[in-house]
Order: sequence, then structure tokens, then C-alpha cells
Amino acid sequence: MIEMRLKKEREKSLLRKHLWIFSGAVEAFSDSPECGETVRVTDHSGKFLAYAACSPQSQLIGRVWSFNENMPPGKELFQQRIREAAEFRRFLGLDDPEGGCRLINSEADGLPGLVVDRFGEFLVMQISAAGVERFREEFVELLMKELGAKGIYERSDLPVRAKEGLAERTGLAAGEQPPNPIIIRENGMRFAVDVRHGQKSGFYFDQRESRRAVAKYADGRTVLNCFSYTGGFAVAALKAGAKHVINVDSSSPALRQAAHNLEMNKINKEQFENVPGDVFEILRQYAAEKRKFDMVILDPPKFVDSQRNLTRGCRAYQDIARLGFQLLNPGGLLFNFSCSGLMTPELFQKITADAALAANTDGTIVEKLHQSPDHNIPLSTPETFYLKGLITRIK
Ligand code: SAH
Repeated sequence: MIEMRLKKEREKSLLRKHLWIFSGAVEAFSDSPECGETVRVTDHSGKFLAYAACSPQSQLIGRVWSFNENMPPGKELFQQRIREAAEFRRFLGLDDPEGGCRLINSEADGLPGLVVDRFGEFLVMQISAAGVERFREEFVELLMKELGAKGIYERSDLPVRAKEGLAERTGLAAGEQPPNPIIIRENGMRFAVDVRHGQKSGFYFDQRESRRAVAKYADGRTVLNCFSYTGGFAVAALKAGAKHVINVDSSSPALRQAAHNLEMNKINKEQFENVPGDVFEILRQYAAEKRKFDMVILDPPKFVDSQRNLTRGCRAYQDIARLGFQLLNPGGLLFNFSCSGLMTPELFQKITADAALAANTDGTIVEKLHQSPDHNIPLSTPETFYLKGLITRIK
């Protein structure tokens, strides 16, 4: 096995079980590894630290498979990791056979580059890294066996794969074809999910706890749900007694699915409106028309994908938050989210505060929200925390 030797003093983070190795920490390789190849990581003196999947061209040059010299990546390790991941979701109470959750969350479950979401009896698998791709067959077999799945549908249509030299791949990986849509339930709601064409794996399980928070405050309120996708927040709000919800999204298929989800949850047609379009434009238009709502939700896609784009991304977050604040009635609530890992909670709070000032209002933080716990965050690798949200109530 090829050895990856670290520079002096650079073993410290691995000794603290951090799961990522950056290229700047590497002194030398014993040979040139291929993308995805397993390497033996050692400290400067040659002492074993970890097994890692190597991406020689990437800044994130190594992703740890195991810190145990007797446990290299392979069936035994994978089986153990899959079992631990499933056990953790049972602990979280996410084992409703007709429900869904993130079952395997990449490095946070010790399987860097593998994401598996469960939709009832079916699994959707996404492989983002060459390390996992090398063991694809083992994973498909183990996932079927260990998790008793009816079928696995693969959604490895991820642009990041190109950086690892991998082509995109979608389609049935094992077992039966999942129905279209798959109906799942969550906290008394039902959602129809198109796992073949939906965004990511089809549904945003990472907002489960935020849907609960929306439900908690929605009674009697009018709601503007921006970046609505298939209407998760809309269903939560209306089931909890909201008066009316407007969903805004640029994707017409997502809005059609939102209408379907609302009808399936027995919401009257008069209680919601779906507006296709660009949120930035629609917020400006509503502000010009002096429209008001009791609750505005802003759950945009990732605006910051690199440190270089941070300033531009911050401006976009601030822009929509300012407009959101402007559209609120007195006592109204703004729910704003950022799923950019590079955006720290402190910075996001500051942006929200700046936006309130610019909107000529002031508010109080009611709750801080974050990714639901099946999108687990290892203590050793806090960079896996990406989704944060604030509920702010204005005066
Ligand atoms: N709130 C959703 C998830 C949002 S994902 C949920 O809880 O399920 C982000 C959504 O924003 C996607 O549906 C995408 O189609 C939409 N989107 C991205 N850019 C947009 C824009 N400029 N205007 C409107 N919608 C946009």
C-alpha cells in the first residue's frame, strides 16, 4: 500500500481524529497514488496514523477511512459502519418504516463520499468520491443486506464527481424499481418524493427540525415561503393552522409537486398559491407593492461555494433578508437559512442584523436552527456543520 507521509507536526489534527487531510500537510508519497486509492498515512517518523482515500489533485487530498491499523477499508469495516449508522438513526427515532431519513452521512458516519437516504423501504445512494466508487459493488451488496432494502436507486449525478475523474451515474443499482412518487410520512405529514428527478436525493431531510419550528409558530399567520422546492415548509405551516401560504420557486416541477403535497395533506386550494419565478425579483416586486406577511421563510440554495465567493454570497444573503424583513407585519417572523458550510453562524447572524438595520427595523432572535441530527456532526470534524438558520421576530 502506498504511504502518505505527513510533514513534521502536521499529524496533530489526525491524532484528534479529524477526518480530512489537506495537501499542505503532506511531505511525500512512497509512490504516485491513483485517485481514490487507499493510502497508509503516517507521521513524519513513519508511524501509522490512518488509512485514507487519496485524491492526489485535490486540496482535500485525503479522507480518513479508519484510524485502526487492523481495520483497513473493506467489507468488515463497511459492515460495521453501516450498522453503527443505522443504530444511530434508530436512537434518533427515525426508524418509521414509512418514513425517511439520511441513513449514511458520508465522513460523519465513517464512509467519506457515500450518502444514503432512506425513503420507506427504498434507498437512494450518492457517491461523490473516487474512494467509495472503488468499493461500489461491496457497498450496494452490504446496503441491501444490512438495511433490508427493497431497492437502491443511485443518484450520483453530482458535478463534484468530475473533479475525481468520475462520470455521473443514475439508475437502479439493486433490487426493485422504487415507485414514482414514493410517499413518505413525517410528523403527521405526508410527502411525495420523485427520487429519480428531484433535487439531490429528492427531499430535504436536513430541514426536518426546521419544519417543526415553522409549525410551532405558524398558527393564524400568512406565510411567504421563498425557495419552497416541493413545499415542505408550506405543508408544515398549513397543517399547523397558517391562514395562507405563497410558495415561490424557480422550478415549475418543484411547484407542481408542492401542489400535489398540499392536496395530499388535505389543504384547501384557496389556502395556498404557487408563484414560479426568481425570488430576488419577486421580493422586490412585493416590497414595491407594499405587501405584508406574518412570516417570511428564506431557504435559498448554497450562495457561497468557495472562500473566493464569500463576499458576493454574503451580499445575496443580506439582500433577501433585508427584503424579507421589509415584508413583515409588526410582530412578524423571519426564518432565514444558509446551507453554505463556509458561512459561520456568527457571520450569518451579523448579516441578518445588518439586513434588519437596512430594512429600518429591529428584532429579537427567537430560535437558532441547524441541520437535523441525522445529518450528524462529528466532534472531531466540525466543518461538517453547514445548515444554520435564525428565527427573528421584529417589533
Ligand atoms: N425549502 C426547501 C428546500 C429549498 S432548496 C425545502 O424545505 O424542501 C432551494 C430551492 O431554491 C430549489 O427548489 C431551487 O429550485 C430554488 N431556487 C434556486 N434559486 C432560485 C431563485 N433565484 N429563485 C427562486 N427559486 C430558486
